[in-house]
Amino acid sequence: MLRFAVLGSGSSGNSAVVCHGATRVLIDAGLSARQLEQRLLALGIEPDSIQAVVLTHEHGDHVGGLDVFCRKRPLPVYGTRDTCTVVGEGLKSRVHWQKFEAGQAFTVGPLAFDSFSVPHDAVDPVGFVVSDPSSGNRVGILSDVGQVTTLIRDRLKAIDTLFVEANYDETLLQNDTKRPWATKQRISSRHGHLSNDQAAELIVSVATERLHRVVLGHLSRDCNTPEVAIRAIHGQLVKAGFADVHVECACPKHPLPLREAARHAPPPGASPRLSEADGDATPADASDDASPRDEKAEARPPRRSLRSASPQPSESFPGWQQGEWAF
Ligand SMILES: [Zn+2]
Ligand SMILES: [Zn+2]
Repeated sequence: MLRFAVLGSGSSGNSAVVCHGATRVLIDAGLSARQLEQRLLALGIEPDSIQAVVLTHEHGDHVGGLDVFCRKRPLPVYGTRDTCTVVGEGLKSRVHWQKFEAGQAFTVGPLAFDSFSVPHDAVDPVGFVVSDPSSGNRVGILSDVGQVTTLIRDRLKAIDTLFVEANYDETLLQNDTKRPWATKQRISSRHGHLSNDQAAELIVSVATERLHRVVLGHLSRDCNTPEVAIRAIHGQLVKAGFADVHVECACPKHPLPLREAARHAPPPGASPRLSEADGDATPADASDDASPRDEKAEARPPRRSLRSASPQPSESFPGWQQGEWAF
């Protein structure tokens, strides 16, 4: 079973974890080592069980905790050749570099990683599709990208969960008085970051019936809000006929719950609609709950309003608080 969680996302630090059985892989390590450890533990993941770190690019908000995290546990670190070179220059700890060329695939245990180039102001930035060959489930990772390319659209087809940055709202960026004009130009340039509208257009263009969840990341503190981002993206998904895709924002301060990447397969004889009402339950939840499927579905409120699409203070994850979410 392929599972995915964002440990934290924003200009202060980015990291996510993808799991399959006993295989756990960090994607970026931009939080402090202490925060990485605490947030992994909050998700029930022992930090020493991490088997590898995979890097998207060398910016500090993606690698800032790597040195200390790897000091305690020498790990294989996967990155493009240039990314490894630049990151390695600033590292004191010894890591086992696993270099690849953008566009190449590699495996970590049973997980397959397909990399692809993305435009961003880094030496050789990449995105990934992480897949579990046994189930075919796929998670797309697209963080820090200035422009959506044909290659990106092509590689992100047929994914179950997509993590994508939604950095800024165009109006809020234009009206922002803290940033000089040159900085705004860099953010919105082809090698900067994606706006909400650009992210929405991409998501709709790659959405298929199997798309289950979209996690928005790297939201600007001043030029975006979770409400604005979710409204923009979910609104476009609804218009395109994908109203049942769950959209949520990653938070800088707390991890999101570890969730199964793909939709649950509908049980024999049940309608797909009823099974989708169970979308947030872990498989353990589903199997431990002996109540008939139809009763479970009827007991739940309708979930596809904007509020139900946004992250709620989670009963299954008490560390997630609404007040923290609205950072
Ligand atoms: Zn970056
Ligand atoms: Zn970044």
